[in-house]
Amino acid sequence: MSRQRKWVSETARRICSETGLSDPVEGAITLAESLTLEAKLDHPGQNLKALASYQGAKIQELAMDDAGRLIPIFQGDFDYLIQVNAEHPQPRKNFSVCHELGHTLMPNFLLAPAPRHDVVTMTWNTQFEEEFLCDVAAAELLMPRREFIPRLRGCGMLIESIKELAEEFGASLEATALNIVKANVEDVAVIIWEKDWNKSQRRGATGPSLFEGEDGFEPPPKAYRIKLATSCGELRNYHFPHNKSIQEDSLIYQAAETTLSVSGKQLLPIGGDSDREFYTQSMSFPIRRDGDLERRVFTIVQLKPHIQN
Ligand SMILES: [Zn+2]
Repeated sequence: MSRQRKWVSETARRICSETGLSDPVEGAITLAESLTLEAKLDHPGQNLKALASYQGAKIQELAMDDAGRLIPIFQGDFDYLIQVNAEHPQPRKNFSVCHELGHTLMPNFLLAPAPRHDVVTMTWNTQFEEEFLCDVAAAELLMPRREFIPRLRGCGMLIESIKELAEEFGASLEATALNIVKANVEDVAVIIWEKDWNKSQRRGATGPSLFEGEDGFEPPPKAYRIKLATSCGELRNYHFPHNKSIQEDSLIYQAAETTLSVSGKQLLPIGGDSDREFYTQSMSFPIRRDGDLERRVFTIVQLKPHIQN
């Protein structure tokens, strides 16, 4: 993706000139890597306070709407104050701290340090290049590739590895799953499924009382749909369309019913009305949304069956 992309921001341009690399994504990773190497920290996610203080930043947890904020202070022992949302789960706080540290690594930020307020972090939205590159840097700070890749090889490309590595590196399941694909050690895709309506059902369900009232109509049941899909290697030849649903007799639904992993060949949507069979491993994890406890399904997709070492 990054190689075909035309980068337009000053942030991207300056990262490339600072690092001598042509790809700002590689550049952002290199800047983050330099910080963890200089700070001599293994598993920085377990010791973010030390990583932050090495970069001259103090972390403060605060009740606020933003996920994270970076405030240049240049006072006393600290150059920056990083505020994170006290209500967020620890892995999310960790990522937000690393995202704000990411800002402090950006060469254009250093030229004119100004506050950054991030309503959300980990959006991976390439439209906002500085924010995207700070997410890239954050993933590297939290899960340095020199540690993450050997650990992933050790654990194997197994769905259980997502949870194991997430806990080890203090990252969320989602950030870890994305990092597994980014590590590019095997041709693989990761799909995250959540229960949702399609577009027109959502309009009906949230619009003016179409489904409620005297006529007894209920909103249609939600289906498991693709919320996020990312791939590397040969799996990049397949497009797993956002919000596309999957049949109730699929392994995805089976995984949603249990806490164990479910493996096997499974037809997956690949755009248009087409499906293709892939080797899959799926596992579901609880997620709280709008006060309700739901299950989110993670699927590792491969072209060949996984061979256990
Ligand atoms: Zn930001």
